[in-house]
Amino acid sequence: MENISISENQLVPLTQEALRLGATSAAIILSKEIQVKDNLAALCNGEYICPNYGLAASCSPHVGGPAEFRKWQAQSEHSVTVKIELPTSVMFSDERKGVMQLLHQIVAAVEQKAIETGFGKSKAFAGGSCKELFCEDHEKCCVVAENKPCRHMDVVRPSMSGFGIDVTRLMLSSGWPGQKAENSNSSDKDATSWVAGLILLA
Ligand code: SF4
Repeated sequence: MENISISENQLVPLTQEALRLGATSAAIILSKEIQVKDNLAALCNGEYICPNYGLAASCSPHVGGPAEFRKWQAQSEHSVTVKIELPTSVMFSDERKGVMQLLHQIVAAVEQKAIETGFGKSKAFAGGSCKELFCEDHEKCCVVAENKPCRHMDVVRPSMSGFGIDVTRLMLSSGWPGQKAENSNSSDKDATSWVAGLILLA
């Protein structure tokens, strides 16, 4: 992590808000450290097509992808990263959904706090498909299908995947380990995994 030059008084309350709401860790990074890659965004509809591809307004191909993100990034000096750590046994259980919903709620709340404190163009990003997490009981995303407002706009934010954000790099820039268990086969019963989100301050 490089030194943060802007007044920490402006930024620290944002990390504190993330922790208050349930994040395990929150960090401030320079936005220029965020790496977005076209090939990562392409994975949503690559050799393995994500089952959620195209189902929600917050996922590919309904988001602006790396090109749009780079425009926002160019206007942003600092970002907040958040991480929720959880046991691997939870990550691959039915409880995962609740954790992912919490991640969306945290980044959306930090984004709103950032907007209230002067970062009026801030944008938050989470992980996972909001269709699966918040609209599972609805046949379709009403934004995509009917051009109506999102049913959960207060708490739902786009997935980092569709923008090609290199999440491993994001973790390292935050001073956190980048790797995590990718499946439930870990023999270590105490193994932990994590989910992460990002708030681009502008
Ligand atoms: S309406 Fe549901 S599926 Fe569509 S963007 Fe909002 S939360 Fe996601």
